[in-house]
Amino acid sequence: MDFFDKLGKQASKTYEYTAKKTSKIAREAKLKMQMNEHKNKIEELYIEIGKKLYEHHINDKSLDIDIDAVLEEYCIQIDELCDRIEEERKELLTLKDKKQCPNCFCEIELDYHYCPNCGDEQKEDLGYEEENQQDEANVE
Ligand SMILES: [Zn+2]
Repeated sequence: MDFFDKLGKQASKTYEYTAKKTSKIAREAKLKMQMNEHKNKIEELYIEIGKKLYEHHINDKSLDIDIDAVLEEYCIQIDELCDRIEEERKELLTLKDKKQCPNCFCEIELDYHYCPNCGDEQKEDLGYEEENQQDEANVE
């Protein structure tokens, strides 16, 4: 009985670990899908804007459509989608244990202090390092 109890515990531990990993991968896949959907939606909005502008160009001006207001509405939708993509991108980076260089926007490892792409110093992450440096400075 003991042996099977242990086996059961081990199996549930392995299962827990796998489930965590799987849910992470699933979340990543879902985020990527959402980002793609939002990007596609933005492309559609661009096309809509173009259409509206062209229609306005060929239409009878007596229809008196406030084209600026129409375009403004589309732009607001695009802004919102961009914000959502930005949020999704940030969550994706966190899931992958990566961060983004504020200078060149390339994806880098969390513990990098300099960007391997542009060489920019990663200041926002130096809290822990700074403490260490101070300690060193105090030692004479
Ligand atoms: Zn960089």
